[in-house]
Amino acid sequence: MTGETEADLTGVPATPNRRRPKAPITEIDGRKLKPATLMMGHGYDPSLSEGSLKPPIFLTSTFAFESAAAGKRHFEGVTGIRPGGAEGLVYSRFNGPNQEICEDRLSVWEEAEDALLFSSGMSAIATTLLALVQPGDVIVHSAPLYAATESLIGRILGRFGIQWLDFPAGASKVEIGAVIEKAKRLGRVALLYLESPANPTNVLVDLEAVVAQRDALFAGAEHVPPIAIDNTFLGPLWHKPIAHGADLVIYSLTKYAGGHSDLVAGGVLGSNVLINNIRLMRNTIGTILDPHSAWMLLRSLETLELRMSRAGDNAAKVCAWLRDQPQVEKIVYLGFPENERQADIYRRHCTGAGSTFSLYLKGGEAEAFAFLDALKIAKLAVSLGGTETLASHPAAMTHLSVPAERKKALAISDNMVRISIGCEDADDLIADFAQALRHIG
Ligand SMILES: *Cc1c(COP(=O)(O)O)cnc(C)c1O
Repeated sequence: MTGETEADLTGVPATPNRRRPKAPITEIDGRKLKPATLMMGHGYDPSLSEGSLKPPIFLTSTFAFESAAAGKRHFEGVTGIRPGGAEGLVYSRFNGPNQEICEDRLSVWEEAEDALLFSSGMSAIATTLLALVQPGDVIVHSAPLYAATESLIGRILGRFGIQWLDFPAGASKVEIGAVIEKAKRLGRVALLYLESPANPTNVLVDLEAVVAQRDALFAGAEHVPPIAIDNTFLGPLWHKPIAHGADLVIYSLTKYAGGHSDLVAGGVLGSNVLINNIRLMRNTIGTILDPHSAWMLLRSLETLELRMSRAGDNAAKVCAWLRDQPQVEKIVYLGFPENERQADIYRRHCTGAGSTFSLYLKGGEAEAFAFLDALKIAKLAVSLGGTETLASHPAAMTHLSVPAERKKALAISDNMVRISIGCEDADDLIADFAQALRHIG
């Protein structure tokens, strides 16, 4: 009885709701429960699902209404005719129980008002941008960005009359302010889009400086551009951007949050107002995550802190060892800041250095390939944040099509290897890297 009814066409559903637990337990005797505890049950009541300890996977395209009047009420809610949102689930392009439970749990890590799941990190980014930009707008962004995000902003949105200006990831407060001022003269600044640390340079963006400049330059303005940040590399454990003034936090949940290299998903966290706006776009174009992947993500979130802590500890040990090896030219790892400016940004924003870094070997492509081909534990693959250690060669793989000049500017050289450390035993990993280094020349 539901599906593409007239209500879908005249107004897109905004906030379908499932029956949430009546009294969620988030504190005991005044003690606020930690995310690691809440990941095991928050947002789910077994008594609403036959006592099933884990949420069942709700494989359904649509949801039955209790009565015609209830269906009308739901549609009044989801279309905004009646304020306050929907009271029931309507149709699986808009939402479903697995997705909503997972969204509630994802919000916990950054105390976000709300969150949305997407079919990939890129569909999260694309849906967010489509919701926020209009022709003639300017997007100000940090550089470099994830390659597909750069294509989306530069090449695809550019076709619709949207311009962009960028500043280097490590820019000072003054430099950031100058770029925002220039953008204001070009058109309406739709949003400030950041990625920190930048990939693959590992340079951190001074989010607090961006917030201060945005607040100063748009004080009293009719449209204050929201600040969105891709937090895939450090979140949600080591960097919580909402606490530093970001409005939207974007994730490729494929990486640390999924954490087992077995799913592709994306997420966006933020205020109710912004999230409701992005949800309308998601409802329209159908970029929501499927129930099965949402269920897998719920499983992953239970061990998120364990996995990320272990991977972070492992990376610290491996990097400290690698740094002293004669075959190594240098390591770009957040735990060894390259200058005082980066050290300052790190101290103010981050609680951990992550487990993804760049290793520059002495030599060129031949030496890098010899090292990569000799690895026995680490797998040769792109991506990051999984339980297993991965290694890749950006110049020949992820950044192969990047023009030589830009590669040089980003320090993507032939002797650079990208490594994401997993949850193995740190000394076993060191043994693997030691034998692989001996294969060089
Ligand atoms: C992987 C990644 C993305 C894209 O995510 P998908 O899940 O592959 O679509 C975006 N940003 C960053 C920083 C990433 O590492």
